Amino acid sequence: MKYVVCVPDGCADEPVGELGGRTPLEVASMPTLARLAARGEVGRAAVIPPGLPAGSDVGNMSIFGYDPASYHTGRAPIEAAALGLRLAPDQVAYRCNLVTVGADGTMVDFSGGHPSSDDGRKLIEALDADLGGDGLEFHPGVEYRHIVVAPADWADAECTPPHDLTDKPAVWPTGPAAPRLQQVMDASRDIVSAFGLAANQVWLWGQGFQPQMPSFASQYGLDAALCSAVDLVRGLGVLTGIEVIDVDGMTAGYDTDYDAQRECALDALADGADLFVVHVEATDEAGHAGDAGAKVAALEAWDRRILADLVPGLDRLGPWRLLFLPDHATPLELKTHTDEPVPYLLVDSRVDGPGGTYTEAGVADAAPVPGHELMGRLTAVR
Ligand SMILES: [Zn+2]
Repeated sequence: MKYVVCVPDGCADEPVGELGGRTPLEVASMPTLARLAARGEVGRAAVIPPGLPAGSDVGNMSIFGYDPASYHTGRAPIEAAALGLRLAPDQVAYRCNLVTVGADGTMVDFSGGHPSSDDGRKLIEALDADLGGDGLEFHPGVEYRHIVVAPADWADAECTPPHDLTDKPAVWPTGPAAPRLQQVMDASRDIVSAFGLAANQVWLWGQGFQPQMPSFASQYGLDAALCSAVDLVRGLGVLTGIEVIDVDGMTAGYDTDYDAQRECALDALADGADLFVVHVEATDEAGHAGDAGAKVAALEAWDRRILADLVPGLDRLGPWRLLFLPDHATPLELKTHTDEPVPYLLVDSRVDGPGGTYTEAGVADAAPVPGHELMGRLTAVR
């Protein structure tokens, strides 16, 4: 038995005026998905447990079959894992954005004008040289997204994600560790500004200790692999022993090579993996941009370039089961994530289910099931 988990990030939505009161899933032409839904089981998954942020870290942790209420400590340690960092028990990781804060204290750009990864690395190295030491470490990541590792007693603070502050007054940290965080952010201004880029300081947030997640193999008894261009998803793979595969042409944008991601899944399964997770970011990107056309196009690419050839490819490998769901909704008209339950589809190549329609309205009457239980449902049949 082979298992595939398909994650169109943030694909769930709400009725959109621009789409005639329909959702992208209702508008997109997805004939293969419709066929699978007609012979599978559709329902609603609560991928974001109550009280947790509606982030890709939480939602994907659910999809991977781990209850975020038990295992989620913050997003930074997951991204740190993607960079190959292992945290000691007395270390906390912070996400360190390069941001642009205006002279009047407005968060002008949470992504600091999208510096190149090369510029970002130079900046982070300069910060580490000037401000690092005594357990404080700056680690370069990608573009504006970096990691700070600090002693455990730096963890106790309330921090605001910078992308929630765009064009609003910056909300500085509060809590016992806030003065130390503030000191680092204040001290970063001279160093960052000296580079003459759009970014003019760092922003620390999303902190957490290393989550103690049992391996996927020990939890589910299966060898798993994944492909994703997103650090949070790759970090979850590192933390759970799921093999993280790089794919040429895979990106976190609209231009990802869907065909290459599909072939990566089929090749890994043919080579012995039992389960494969295909994660594509494009739908979430479109949701944040409020771009209805791009979101519909990304869904149609999922169907035409992944599912249409994935299904016959799986048939050639033997019996299979497939789970399709996003990690959260990213409604076009809100341009941000929500914690609403999302539609899921579970299909078994050998046994027909009740059948249904894979849309938000198609599952509106279903009682939500905890998202982290679906991995157990998927893999229960061997
Ligand atoms: Zn997401």
